[in-house]
Amino acid sequence: MAHHRRRVIVVGTGLGGLLTGAFLARRRHSVSFVEAQSLIGGRFTHIDYQGFAVPTGAFHAFPGGVRGHLFHCLCKVGVHVPLVEPAPSVHVATEGQLLPLHLDMTRSQSSELRKRMGVYRRGRVIRSSLSMLVGGMMGRDIPAAEGMRRIGGTEAGVRLLDHLTKFSLSVPAEEASAVELLRSIRSQRFGRDGFLVHGSGDMVTKLRTASESRGATFRTATPVRRIVVDGGRARGVEIEGGELLEADLVIANAGARRTLEMLGDAAPQDMIDRVGRLRSACGFTHAVRSRRRMHEHSSIEITLDLEHIAGIMPVSNLSPFLCPEGWHFSLAYQWLDPERDAQAQLEAGRGELRSHLGDDVDLMNTACYYGRNPTANIAQMIGQHGKDRPPAQLPGIDGLYLVGHDVRGYGTAAELVGESCLRLWRTLAKA
Ligand SMILES: Cc1cc2nc3c(=O)[nH]c(=O)nc-3n(C[C@H](O)[C@H](O)[C@H](O)COP(=O)(O)OP(=O)(O)OC[C@H]3O[C@@H](n4cnc5c(N)ncnc54)[C@H](O)[C@@H]3O)c2cc1C
Repeated sequence: MAHHRRRVIVVGTGLGGLLTGAFLARRRHSVSFVEAQSLIGGRFTHIDYQGFAVPTGAFHAFPGGVRGHLFHCLCKVGVHVPLVEPAPSVHVATEGQLLPLHLDMTRSQSSELRKRMGVYRRGRVIRSSLSMLVGGMMGRDIPAAEGMRRIGGTEAGVRLLDHLTKFSLSVPAEEASAVELLRSIRSQRFGRDGFLVHGSGDMVTKLRTASESRGATFRTATPVRRIVVDGGRARGVEIEGGELLEADLVIANAGARRTLEMLGDAAPQDMIDRVGRLRSACGFTHAVRSRRRMHEHSSIEITLDLEHIAGIMPVSNLSPFLCPEGWHFSLAYQWLDPERDAQAQLEAGRGELRSHLGDDVDLMNTACYYGRNPTANIAQMIGQHGKDRPPAQLPGIDGLYLVGHDVRGYGTAAELVGESCLRLWRTLAKA
């Protein structure tokens, strides 16, 4: 492919689409991005609201930091973003204490936390983790909560893991995949997570500029209605209004479910069945502001004693550029149980935040990630039913590649997108 200039259409400008489009534009292909919404970036950008960087999804966190897949992707497309890497990445708030949490589980953990979690026998942790990883290679997986018990974790340890998976994957530990979680932790080589100093929107703007400087074009507010497949090959897309855009290659970043819908009869039945089994994650993001400093640290705060709020990102402690002078700004994540009354859970979560942060804080905005709200595709499927997520290339359709959060792979949050991009780019470079 490196030798032929191809016409490429990228459907969706989420992180996976932007990165892959930038990669292909850099390889001198003719790239056109087509985005349904009026803003680009999907779940990985922010809106400036009165000087506060309010996200469409991502909390400006950059999992894996400078050693992760995502950072590697950015280097490959020539985009530089300043990061801070707080150490440790996580603090656990419990019983009036703040305990630092290290992901290696044993080495540098505080003895207080090790005792409570029950994870202190290094030999057992390593042996059990390896046997889970080997099981995963043979197609056997277990829930992360069960994995925690196997490494010796107490019920307090399982509760902590549950808060962590709800915060970072939006699934409870009883539903998260132990194997995917272990592979994600291992792939980060216990490196530090990063935080985008100028926010997710800055990274998206730089990715756009990198592509445009190589001749790529962007059409926003242009939903793709259909991916045109003829003779087992993707030939282009039909946009709302009926216009046909021809292409040699279609990169689908609109999410697995929507991509299958756009394929209509050409979608493989096996994939429709598998993706149908995936359950969308849902939750609330609370944007909180205050005139006084709300946290004494710059790490993700896992709120172990709260039932609804899983964790809080102290945004303005990490970067002063994401909020107006004189203010402090945090983002809290609440997992939503779709089987229970959403309004009651919302009220309970807001009440918890007030009691945790103080009655004087202003809960300035709550975004609900449920169904198709508030941006386009918000179904996070990482960590659950890993095997049911589709591969980058659907069987029987040439010239069409899927990229993004719903595609099979591993990695925490957008690290999964980075990992899936690198895998896809190796295929594309050879094609
Ligand atoms: C609340 C929340 C907090 C998060 N926090 C973090 C974090 O701090 N750090 C982190 O790394 N990750 C975080 N994530 C995860 C991260 O946001 C996702 O992994 C990532 O943004 C997904 O990117 P994607 O490539 O799958 O594309 P998406 O963001 O899903 O974008 C898909 C794009 O396709 C477009 N589209 C859909 N249908 C069509 C159509 N028919 N035609 C044209 N375009 C279409 C959509 O409008 C959208 O722009 C968070 C997610 C959520 C929901």
